[in-house]
Amino acid sequence: LAKQCGRNNYQFFDPEKDREAIANRELLQSIGLAIDGGELRLLYQPIVNMRLGGVEALETLVRWQHPQRGLLAPIEFLPAIEGTDLMRRLDRWVLREALVQQAAWVALGLSLRLHINVSAHSLQGLDFLRQVSDLIACHPEVEPRSIELEILETAALDDLDQVSAVISDGARLGISFALDDFGTGYSSLIYLRRLPAGTLKIDQTFVRNMLQDREDCNIVEGVIGMARAFGRAVIAEGVETLEHGTLLMRLGCDRAQGYGIARPMAAAQLQDWVNAYRQPSLWADWIRGIRP
Ligand code: C2E
Ligand code: MG
Ligand code: MG
Ligand code: MG
Repeated sequence: LAKQCGRNNYQFFDPEKDREAIANRELLQSIGLAIDGGELRLLYQPIVNMRLGGVEALETLVRWQHPQRGLLAPIEFLPAIEGTDLMRRLDRWVLREALVQQAAWVALGLSLRLHINVSAHSLQGLDFLRQVSDLIACHPEVEPRSIELEILETAALDDLDQVSAVISDGARLGISFALDDFGTGYSSLIYLRRLPAGTLKIDQTFVRNMLQDREDCNIVEGVIGMARAFGRAVIAEGVETLEHGTLLMRLGCDRAQGYGIARPMAAAQLQDWVNAYRQPSLWADWIRGIRP
């Protein structure tokens, strides 16, 4: 018993763990302050139709403009708040801010579908859909159908009944849904039937490796086939090169997002980029520019 207590005590006073816990607590506190203090920023990454050459949508991606550490990517702060109330606050901030931006774009005549990531924890909130539709209703110029909420496939599978209810109820309110990072969960036909999201987003790890790895290519092909069988749209993430784009088009996936097309950018840069890209020949030019 004494030995056990000793061990427990040792664990309790482990200075390394203690420091981690303090750092984590400080991070949580400062994220809370950052949300309220206006330190979060939104970037937007275009989603294009490679065959038609047009921009179809934008994905909203959050950043934290940290006063000391600079611009932080989600991986540096989202894991710490996952499953906490702060995550819900962050998602709500993103929704509110993205809708203000969408309303401004619609007023300028730029009407693209806006994708917004939402965490599993937010989806589980009892009044989640009401909050979203209330926020959309604040902007009469924004059509609910132009808002597409991205849910991780893995989060959807963790709570299939609840998430499928949110998607069907949301659809009745006119809101669209996408299953994000598709292929990293179970991706079975049975699950897909119960998740009535209109769009599947193929996870970028499969797209990135599809040129060298036969099995990743098969997964990409399989997801495209599943999407077609269920009448869902499909978007490839992580399209970095011409080769990715052409292979995807050959496999039947025309919609794409990735550094090869555009990096996530600030709202102020976006309109010029979209106007320049609109010409249907530009995708072909890009392809021609890259071809040796
Ligand atoms: P995601 O939703 O799958 O977003 C795509 C991620 O891939 C983004 O990373 C984007 O910058 C990156 N990406 C796009 N094209 C390429 C490419 O060609 N190559 C590579 N290597 N990466 C590419 P980011 O912005 O760091 O976001 C990471 C994840 O954080 C997102 O993955 C999403 O799950 C989460 N996230 C981002 N913003 C939000 C938000 O506002 N709310 C919530 N709940 N989660 C968010
Ligand atoms: Mg996403
Ligand atoms: Mg994704
Ligand atoms: Mg991802």
